Amino acid sequence: MVRLLAVSKGQAVEKMKQLQQLGQYHFGENYVQEALIKMDQFKHVSPMIWHFTGKIQSNKTRLISEKFDWVHTVDNERIAVRLNAGRINQAPLNVCIQIKMSTSLHRGGIGVNDVFALAKTIMAMPALELRGLMIMPELMNQHDIQNKANLQSQYEKWFHYYIQFQQHFGSKIDTLSMGMSYDRLQALKAGSNLVRIGTALFGSRI
Ligand SMILES: *Cc1c(COP(=O)(O)O)cnc(C)c1O
Repeated sequence: MVRLLAVSKGQAVEKMKQLQQLGQYHFGENYVQEALIKMDQFKHVSPMIWHFTGKIQSNKTRLISEKFDWVHTVDNERIAVRLNAGRINQAPLNVCIQIKMSTSLHRGGIGVNDVFALAKTIMAMPALELRGLMIMPELMNQHDIQNKANLQSQYEKWFHYYIQFQQHFGSKIDTLSMGMSYDRLQALKAGSNLVRIGTALFGSRI
């Protein structure tokens, strides 16, 4: 089963409401303050499920662990420790480890050689539930067909990596968060089971 995460950062609440009325409950946000305002607008709608997909600033970890249901961008132990400490009297926070693609120069993510160690650490944290891996592509020219072909073969490698990861860490690992508006088809063909779609759903951001 593939899940659709509607990435609503920079999108109007009205558009989110239209989507929610069609049965979409998973929304992704990158900025804590913006997300809190939106959460307030949906506080009577159940079950809204909020995913944090932005860069995690350490002074925001408490709010993130309190207010969100998922975090896709955990990429170091220090942040994991803080998220774990901030989640009090709630069901565990679902987390994915964000992996850095070897070719990516400018986004977050942990190096592939350190993923298993971080996963082991997170598995031992009572307030965090490790659910899987998150892959982010490089920024690229939107019309570059060659790039898309390359991307698909890279994504196939990440899918195999994910299967190994799942075999190692067990059946609670059920999420490969891979694919955005631009590269969703390549990611889905490669085996992604959660796509994070913003502009292709909502139109361009404000
Ligand atoms: C903004 C964002 C998305 C959505 O990007 P679109 O190109 O609008 O689909 C997905 N994932 C992450 C981590 C993002 O920051």
